[in-house]
Amino acid sequence: MKTIGVLTSGGDAPGMNAAVRAVVRTACENHIKVYGIDRGYKGLMEGSLIPMEIRTVCDIIHRGGTMLHSARSKEFATEEGMQKAIEICHAYGIEGIVVIGGDGSFRGARDLSERGIPCVGIPGTIDNDIACCDYTIGYDTCLNTIMEMVDRIRDTSASHDRCSVIEVMGRRAGYLALNAGIAVGATAILIPEVEFDLKRDVFDRIRRTQKTGKKHFLVIVAEGVTADGNITVDELAKAIEEETGVESRAMVLAHVQRGGSPTVRDRVVASQMGYRAVELLMDGIGNRVVAMQKDQIVDYDIFEALNMKKHIDMNLYKMANIISI
Ligand code: ATP
Repeated sequence: MKTIGVLTSGGDAPGMNAAVRAVVRTACENHIKVYGIDRGYKGLMEGSLIPMEIRTVCDIIHRGGTMLHSARSKEFATEEGMQKAIEICHAYGIEGIVVIGGDGSFRGARDLSERGIPCVGIPGTIDNDIACCDYTIGYDTCLNTIMEMVDRIRDTSASHDRCSVIEVMGRRAGYLALNAGIAVGATAILIPEVEFDLKRDVFDRIRRTQKTGKKHFLVIVAEGVTADGNITVDELAKAIEEETGVESRAMVLAHVQRGGSPTVRDRVVASQMGYRAVELLMDGIGNRVVAMQKDQIVDYDIFEALNMKKHIDMNLYKMANIISI
């Protein structure tokens, strides 16, 4: 391939910049022209393309967010939108695209690949909810951000003998909530993958822990538990206060979880994935997702990847419940 594009799509994730940098530099080293596509598939349809050079990606490896900006576009998912994108690719001579995003973005990459523009996906999403990957770019940074924020909340919660009920991101997956919950020593963790009973899994756990002398508590709730009109964290805090007598406060961490400088792990994995994605395109291979499995960089057919299922580690969940009392 002589010319490729790179875009970031869906929710931004720390480490996306490191992946863009790796893509651009690997391509430049191999004498491949690279266009940065601004604002994901929306920018592709609109022809918002920026020629990238080795120095265009200076000073971004340590930055959160994405220098290429991100967007969501319903129009792109239509046949007309897709054709607009393909016309732009032909106009600029783009023969392949690296798509950094989540599974929605990979569906777009699959559709473009099927229409003659080979695409390689890189999993960039804080939720770690891509089935073919043990690990997605941004997950580690996000976990560390949650841990740092909750540690701060814990200081004040402990000073006032309170219970803090904290909602973290994860609409469809509880990886963030489970792992952050373990890291902060939460008394209860609620995730969408595991059915819960408020009396058994929250109120009784707090009461039991109270008996051992504990006076302040952390309850971590994944967004997927409160989504779709289920209980809110405010309602949960109120219920905890009524049931246990412990003053309770609710907090939604929200977008603070997305930002910040990527951790070492996110920078290194993003660099490895960006490098592999260009290698695949150089071999003329598209319709693939680069993934990390057992600490190795591998790749899958996008269709196969999208049909895979990922399960929460129930042993980890069980352990969290045992050691949190
Ligand atoms: P995140 O996990 O952060 O939500 P994502 O990549 O899953 O990231 P989406 O909003 O689902 O985010 O998808 C990003 C974009 O990919 C969409 O705005 C749309 O342009 C494109 N896309 C999503 N689904 C499809 C599909 N079925 N066919 C074609 N394109 C799609």
